[in-house]
Amino acid sequence: MVGIKMGKIKNISLLTLLASLFLTSNVLAQDQDLNAAQNLLLAAAEAMGGLDEINAVRTLQLYGYGQEADGFGSGNVAGSPYAPQKWGAQNDLQRIWDLDNDRFMIRQRGNLLFPFAGARAHAYTLNRQVLDGDTAFRIAEDDSANLGGDVRELRMQSLSHPLAALRAAMAADASLSNVHVEDTVSVVDVRLAGGEEYSIGFEWKTGLPAFVAWSGPNHLLGEVRYTTQFTGYVPYSGIKLPLGMVTYMDWRDIEFFKIYGEGYIVNGEIPDLAAPRSLSETQPGGRNSGPLQAENITGGLWRLSNGTVVIEFADHLTLFELGGFGYDDETLPQINLARSLVPGKPVTEYIASHQHDDHASGLRTAVAEGLTVITHRNNEEIFREIASRPAPNFPDMLHRNPRPISIIEVGDRMRLQDEERTVDLYHVVAHNHMAGALMAYLPDENILIEADLTPSRELQWWADAYEQNIKLYDLHPEIIVSVHFGRMSHTEMLEFLAPGRIGGQERCVAQAELDHFVAGCPPFYPEGNLIPGMIEFFDPPFE
Ligand SMILES: [Zn+2]
Repeated sequence: MVGIKMGKIKNISLLTLLASLFLTSNVLAQDQDLNAAQNLLLAAAEAMGGLDEINAVRTLQLYGYGQEADGFGSGNVAGSPYAPQKWGAQNDLQRIWDLDNDRFMIRQRGNLLFPFAGARAHAYTLNRQVLDGDTAFRIAEDDSANLGGDVRELRMQSLSHPLAALRAAMAADASLSNVHVEDTVSVVDVRLAGGEEYSIGFEWKTGLPAFVAWSGPNHLLGEVRYTTQFTGYVPYSGIKLPLGMVTYMDWRDIEFFKIYGEGYIVNGEIPDLAAPRSLSETQPGGRNSGPLQAENITGGLWRLSNGTVVIEFADHLTLFELGGFGYDDETLPQINLARSLVPGKPVTEYIASHQHDDHASGLRTAVAEGLTVITHRNNEEIFREIASRPAPNFPDMLHRNPRPISIIEVGDRMRLQDEERTVDLYHVVAHNHMAGALMAYLPDENILIEADLTPSRELQWWADAYEQNIKLYDLHPEIIVSVHFGRMSHTEMLEFLAPGRIGGQERCVAQAELDHFVAGCPPFYPEGNLIPGMIEFFDPPFE
């Protein structure tokens, strides 16, 4: 007994000794880490022009132009990583930092550089988004201000610049840790008093900030890590600032947003970025606003107000599309509403029309809920990638409860059939917006279910796809259930397509008159019947 006691005491004292040694070395290591981090920040401030000069910056304006990967890199003609990236221009670009008052503004004019539905997508639409402390608001083209915007994301965007990131990291209440090396860059992890976390890399050769990296949630991919690389440092008012800023995603290494800087103004006069005292709520809009409802189309067929279509079979329900730009909290109610329509029949599968982020944002939720995904074979690879991504910092249902994705691949066509229902799935052809899309046809009811066959009233770059597809597959739709536009008859569909078919051509002619030969002109309209101006400027394939 005594021996054991003695042994215990001996063990305890040894453990205490070891623990205190460990703690001392840990504190020492932390001190060394902090010193190393602070030295890197100070060296960077010196390299950029001097600590006092950096601290004396009150306002900073970056002028330039930019390009953005459409749909977080999903907006291409196919889901393959080798599909050509579709870009949107973001011209008349400014970033404005009001560092004294903790305010930041993004200003840019968006114009898609590929044919897209909707006139605003091709109108260099002015977008001004401001963050004032914890208030995000947008300034409309008529200068009215409305509440709205993602505060956290705007904050991280404001920090995606060497001067802002360095200043924030040097604040007394910021914590620095985890100094490490990535290639030829020393990296420091930063946590601000408000909880924002990012990493800054410092180039060995110059000491200048090489990149800022941060993570955020993403409606399509679960979570994304963004790394903004800084290049082309040039002095402005004695401070070296980068003219090149490319933000990469950790998915396929996509260049998500490229800023081509033209120059900076340091401590210039900037617009007042204070949030107006009375900010009105942004008008609700979009297909996912308002309460979620189900519209009965015919026996055993419903369209939910978000665009999802529910198809009843003998012993289960199948969904067509789970889109929007939402997360689990938006998609799960759609699945649950479908489940409630026919008690006792489970929702077991989901037809994913195509891979664009506004159409596939429900994919991760669907996989987490155990739904089998039916899609064109072109989407198999991209959907596996999306469903297998972890989201450790912003865990969604699929991250918390990971499941392997189960995919049924469709080639040119496939029939889903039981004693109650027949649904034919067809590969959508003659469509420059999507090469790997499915549409669904109910042959007993002559009902066509489609997504993006009919994308807008104003501009129809793929106006003939509807007629081309129904001709090819010999379909005779009496009712069309459109994800974007609800229920239409065949005649209403033709009336819907006609003005946009002319609108697209008129845009081509109007641009050509200015010597602008923009992407998508002349439109590829196999049905011909073009407006006279088209022949004047173009050599269209069909007249
Ligand atoms: Zn699309």
